[in-house]
Amino acid sequence: MDNYDEQRRKGGETRNAAICTTVQAALSQNRLFFAFQPVVCVATGKTDYFECLLRMRDVRGNIIAGAEFIAPIERLGRIGFIDDYVLELTVRELARHPRVRLGLNISGLTACAGPWLQSLVSLLRHRPDVARRLVVEITETAALSDLQEAARFVDTLRRAGCRVALDDFGVGHTSLRHLETLPVDTVKVDGSFVRNLAEDGDRRIYLRDLLGSISGFGCNTVAEGVENAADEAAARAEGFSYLQGYHLGAPTIERIWLGQNSTSAAELHWSTDEATPDPDDKRRAPIHTLLPAADH
Ligand code: C2E
Ligand code: CA
Ligand code: CA
Repeated sequence: MDNYDEQRRKGGETRNAAICTTVQAALSQNRLFFAFQPVVCVATGKTDYFECLLRMRDVRGNIIAGAEFIAPIERLGRIGFIDDYVLELTVRELARHPRVRLGLNISGLTACAGPWLQSLVSLLRHRPDVARRLVVEITETAALSDLQEAARFVDTLRRAGCRVALDDFGVGHTSLRHLETLPVDTVKVDGSFVRNLAEDGDRRIYLRDLLGSISGFGCNTVAEGVENAADEAAARAEGFSYLQGYHLGAPTIERIWLGQNSTSAAELHWSTDEATPDPDDKRRAPIHTLLPAADH
């Protein structure tokens, strides 16, 4: 039995290592890029920010979602190279598009390592306008075992001018204990609490309790995974500050904020076509040349 478990574990590790190698190759060949999904403000109906979700184009040209390759690399403890790249891509995007606000995902594993934070601080030190438009979503908080260190991480991000969100709240290891210690601006409630909210009375009571506890910490709340009008109405009635999900807008590689700044996200029918990454992604000018001049 032990032997079988050991072999299964090794099989899993071999597969994860193969995925990691594939993604590293994709990175070096500029085949990693973002899809953008709107996070919509309940009060105004407008997009508050777009979450950047990593995508990979494989050698056959298929688009692979982050769900397929991020967790295996996280399990190997090697997510750092992705988080570094995502920071660079996001800052580049913010610098190119001065009116948009973007959110990036960062693994809790990286949150506890110093170099990523140092890169962010030095990239944004003299660019408050870019910092102000960046939302950092911390995922995989299982890794936040040292909560004091994580609190310093969040504090540094906020001092740098960024907003900080705790992702996937309510599942896995993320809990109210994290909120007691981490000074985050926003809590993203996992989609599993939101799906079928309109039909599931027990779920609704549970969610109401959860939102009551979160509101005690003064955080904004995002309902993730809103897939239909009935769940949107229920999420609004329960008092969420922001909504996100296929019903509000699926992730798309189109930069839909271009030319549509004044349009309410809720009024748009977003495209779900993720077929062609922006050719801009291949123009890899050094990042400092894309940032506005430092005003120091
Ligand atoms: P997440 O941060 O919770 O992102 C939400 C995921 O749910 C995304 O999957 C998104 O495409 C999907 N989604 C959005 N709306 C709906 C909906 O209405 N219904 C359903 N069923 N799903 C919806 P995706 O892009 O495959 O990403 C999966 C996870 O991978 C993310 O979960 C995040 O934890 C991680 N991830 C994605 N991009 C990055 C990244 O750049 N860096 C890191 N470290 N992690 C990332
Ligand atoms: Ca996220
Ligand atoms: Ca999430």
